Amino acid sequence: MSLKIGISLAFGSLGATAAFAVLSDPDIPLPTKQKTEKPKSAVIIGGGILGLSTAFQLNRRGVEVTILEKNSSPAQVASYCNGAVIVPSMAASWASAQLLADNPGELKSMSLSLKALTDPAFLRWSAWFWFNSFWPGRANYNHESQRQLALFSLRCMNEEIEEYGETLGFNKGANGTLKLFHNKADMNKFINSKQAKFWSNQNMPFKELTVEECLELEPGIANLEDWNGSSVNGNEDLVGGVYCPMDSSGDIHVYCKNIEKLCLERGVKIEYNSTVTAINVDDDGLIHSVQVNGDKKFRSDVYVLAMGATSGGLARTLGVNVPVYPLKGHMATVKINPEMPAIKTNIYSPKQGLLGVMGDSQVRLSGIVEAVGFNYEIEPEKGRSLIDKVEGVMKPNYLLKDTAWFHSCLRPVSCDDVAILGQSKVNNLFINTGQGSKGWSFSWGCSTFVAQLICGEETYLEPKRYSPLRFHPFTRFL
Ligand SMILES: Cc1cc2nc3c(=O)[nH]c(=O)nc-3n(C[C@H](O)[C@H](O)[C@H](O)COP(=O)(O)OP(=O)(O)OC[C@H]3O[C@@H](n4cnc5c(N)ncnc54)[C@H](O)[C@@H]3O)c2cc1C
Repeated sequence: MSLKIGISLAFGSLGATAAFAVLSDPDIPLPTKQKTEKPKSAVIIGGGILGLSTAFQLNRRGVEVTILEKNSSPAQVASYCNGAVIVPSMAASWASAQLLADNPGELKSMSLSLKALTDPAFLRWSAWFWFNSFWPGRANYNHESQRQLALFSLRCMNEEIEEYGETLGFNKGANGTLKLFHNKADMNKFINSKQAKFWSNQNMPFKELTVEECLELEPGIANLEDWNGSSVNGNEDLVGGVYCPMDSSGDIHVYCKNIEKLCLERGVKIEYNSTVTAINVDDDGLIHSVQVNGDKKFRSDVYVLAMGATSGGLARTLGVNVPVYPLKGHMATVKINPEMPAIKTNIYSPKQGLLGVMGDSQVRLSGIVEAVGFNYEIEPEKGRSLIDKVEGVMKPNYLLKDTAWFHSCLRPVSCDDVAILGQSKVNNLFINTGQGSKGWSFSWGCSTFVAQLICGEETYLEPKRYSPLRFHPFTRFL
């Protein structure tokens, strides 16, 4: 069953209205937490990108680390196959009425299942989502948190590439993102946006391009008349583009395999086929062990929850609110015609979709947003619809549609669409999740930041912007 986003608004606003107006000020002081000192040992729950990279960052700081992962190898869930784009330039929170109004694409046509609409966890999440979207000042605050995290992550990624090179390679592909526009007003708005100013202040300005310059940058893009007379939605109304130089792309799974290898070489223990079934807390309120597969126990000084979309359930058993909901999306990986020019930049058309560069010979398309609970079913027909929608961006026969393979997965989206990072109300439990559609792009920053917090180091990012405690007052009422 598929219903429009407006229904969610109705349900969500019920919970959001007034009740938590007290939270309208983003500067609300958070409960004071115990100062942390570098622990000797850490257990990380979850071996996706965020678990693996947090393990690596803690290992670099001399902490003894064990990863507990329920599957038989790393990164089999959201970090197995994603849109491939690393896009600091797109740092923004989805929890924004303005963004929803401006974005003609996937968010506005998000579909909701009956399962989601009758799930209290979704309704709670939705209430918070709409509160953040509409309450004056919240969305701007959240956008800024996203931009700070994007910048920090970009720096961490570049430092890592310099230090580890191909050891932690990920088949880095795109050299920037080209955002195409079909309307001059939208293009002007984007070039004058806070986002553009932010990157300009960092000496990485967005560059405005004419249609001819777009075609010169990416000769595989269809000319305005290429699809004339065909049923394919082409570039006939293209008015120009904006080049975002800070972006790139790469294979998240290749990176996860490399980080797993390096972690093992450096002494990190990884326990596969190990499902954490319970977290045990002592009378002093601290976790003393986690239980795996029902019986085996693992102990450490600190614990990091990095279970992606499923993080909320286990956290809730401790009374810790980690409001993350799975929003399903779909991918298609398609070979490009070898007789056509290779694609060098990610290409994003708000009207047609997103193409991420995967080496010289293929592209990854990703999109569609669905609230359908924990539904991991791969749906090739939805992947095919992505190809049909984006096909006209490129020249006829550019995408070899018959070569496509498909995947579907769940984005772990927090209810303000800002990652949940840091110490929880249980002092030795840290959280690293909720990155939503940017978990790959922000993984370097999130994991470095969480490791810095765990080890009591100075941080570049403001902890309160990402703290799990920002939801704390809410938990008192539920
Ligand atoms: C369609 C789609 C497209 C995307 N495209 C992009 C993109 O182009 N760019 C970008 O930046 N981001 C993108 N993302 C987001 C990004 O892929 C995710 O945010 C990221 O992979 C999440 O990583 P994670 O480690 O939090 O979660 P996961 O990769 O899901 O890892 C969580 C791990 O926890 C394990 N686990 C769960 N429960 C337990 C338990 N009880 N005990 C032990 N282990 C457990 C799971 O087995 C899993 O391995 C996309 C996501 C989707 C769905």
